[in-house]
Amino acid sequence: MSDAADQPLLRVDGLTKHFPIRAGILLRTAGHVHAVDDVSFQLDPGETLGLVGESGCGKSTVGKTLLRLYEPTAGGVFFEGRDVTAMGRAELRALRRDIQIILQDPSESLNARHTVGKIIEEPFVIHRLGTADERRGWVGELLERVGLSPAAASRFPHEFSGGQRQRIGIARAIALRPKLIVCDEAVSALDVSIQSQIINLLLDLQREMNLALIFIAHDLAVVKHVSDRIAVMYLGEVVETATAKDIYATPRHPYTQALISAIPMPDPTADRDRIVLVGDVPSPIDPPSGCRFHTRCRYAREDCGQRKPEVEPVRNGASVACHYWRGL
Ligand code: SF4
Repeated sequence: MSDAADQPLLRVDGLTKHFPIRAGILLRTAGHVHAVDDVSFQLDPGETLGLVGESGCGKSTVGKTLLRLYEPTAGGVFFEGRDVTAMGRAELRALRRDIQIILQDPSESLNARHTVGKIIEEPFVIHRLGTADERRGWVGELLERVGLSPAAASRFPHEFSGGQRQRIGIARAIALRPKLIVCDEAVSALDVSIQSQIINLLLDLQREMNLALIFIAHDLAVVKHVSDRIAVMYLGEVVETATAKDIYATPRHPYTQALISAIPMPDPTADRDRIVLVGDVPSPIDPPSGCRFHTRCRYAREDCGQRKPEVEPVRNGASVACHYWRGL
């Protein structure tokens, strides 16, 4: 039997999510959206994995599927060795103590008709923790920890700015001291100065609580500063994984190269060629055969549209899915 100490906190193994498309009066299945296909990665306690790619590449679906907010089509999700995809309702509810999600729009998770105090108290109520007095005290402590006054407990979410609402969402997410938080475009809607405040808060909490984070974002410049490792997604698949340092210094996959070339440089006079991706992202309903990136890849060769590249391990735990990355 394997020792729990040897296991990663989270192992995602061949995760796949296809959404059926219903058509006609009988709502027959007319096709599928291939939102996520065969995605695998691991995460250790206290580690941050950045999950990046253009809008619609499936990164948010990965976050929601590993939490079973969407039911996976195939593949496994193992949290501390336990198979999340096989869990019943009671086990899943217990898992929510350990894994939380913060969404881009806090209004999706903050009930507008409840006071902030009630919203943050709710996880304690669901898990039957503490007396009413104790819970009130914990809510005040949590609000202070995320930089808000305990007096905020009696107000409603709409009375706060976007950044403050995200702080409320974080207070609720950390209430049960989870081991992993999925941050799904958690700072994307905020002004740049507020973004960095929220990121710094998350990083402080990560250090204090040894939290693991999955940081989902389309902005590589943001992900660079928070991630230990980065996985790049294109059209539902992970095309490259490496440490943050490695991926920005020597991107191997042509898609990663294009994304990184588009990050604004601190010095606008510095020399760097931007790789412009031609064409739109193809439809996930009928993704291209072979390498899914071949319709937009400037290095595509004849066989790229026929042969699917395997995810190939390279050095330092990195991996890349491209037939020709060595010669690029
Ligand atoms: Fe480009 Fe071919 Fe590599 Fe795909 S396999 S990224 S099309 S070179």
